Formats: sequence, C-alpha cells, structure tokens
Amino acid sequence: MIRTGIGTDTHAYGDGTGLALAGLSWPDERALSGHSDGDVAAHAICDALLSASGLGDLGSNFGVDRPEWKGASGAALLAETARRVREAGFQIGNAAVQVIGNRPKIGPRRADAEAAMSDAIGAPVTVSATTTDGLGLTGRGEGVAAIATALVVAPDA
Ligand code: MG
Repeated sequence: MIRTGIGTDTHAYGDGTGLALAGLSWPDERALSGHSDGDVAAHAICDALLSASGLGDLGSNFGVDRPEWKGASGAALLAETARRVREAGFQIGNAAVQVIGNRPKIGPRRADAEAAMSDAIGAPVTVSATTTDGLGLTGRGEGVAAIATALVVAPDA
C-alpha cells in the first residue's frame, strides 16, 4: 500500500544573516528564527514523511518539549525522521517540496539542495520554488514558507 503525506512550515525572519534552507547554508541571506535552524523546506518534508507514516508530526517528535533537538539542523531532522519512518517498517518512495518566498532564489542551487536532502533521507527529494505576487507574509518579505508531499510504502504492502 502506497501512502501519501503532506507537510507545511513557515518561519519568520530573525536577527542577522545566515539562512538555513533546503539542507544548504546561505550565509548572505537573512536568518529565519525557530526552535531549530528554521529550515522550512526540511521541516515540511519531515512533516510529510511523518504524515504519510502515521507517526505524528514534527512537534510531537522533535518539539519544544524535546530540548535535545533545539538547534538541530534540517539535515539532522530529515535523517532522524527517515530513520524513524523506516524503523516503523515503511519504505520511503520520494519527497517533493516547494519553497514559497521572495528570497533566496532557489534555481541556481536547486541541484545542491536536492542532493543534500536526498542524501539526508536516503530517497529522492525534488525542490521547486514560487512567489506569491507580493501577497501574504512571504510576499511582504516577513518570512519563508514551504509545502511538501511524501510517498511511503506501508509494511504490509
Ligand atoms: Mg520549522
């Protein structure tokens, strides 16, 4: 049985520079705030994988009541999420994530982002990006959002 999952994430810009996004470091871009490194693309994929597997969500697995995950990198959360999904008996088919925001421009680093996050979960990850025509919190440049889907194969397939 193939199962699909969905996840979204949004973080507001914080202080300073040094953005973590899509498994990559963007040292010249504004930083996002968050309990971890604020990598919305990685977090959306984690939620999609957990959603597909019925294993809860990012908050129930790594939330603020799990201080050991404070400051964790997106790649570390992706790797641990994939480990938990496989531990529950699922195979991971793929994940797709769309980044929503004015900056950074994803295109020039799309292949690197896909490679970084594919390595982290041990399955193909594709990355796309869009803007919102100046509307909403991402359009106003207040933060960055992401939406993701994932496919897993259930253990009784
Ligand atoms: Mg997040």
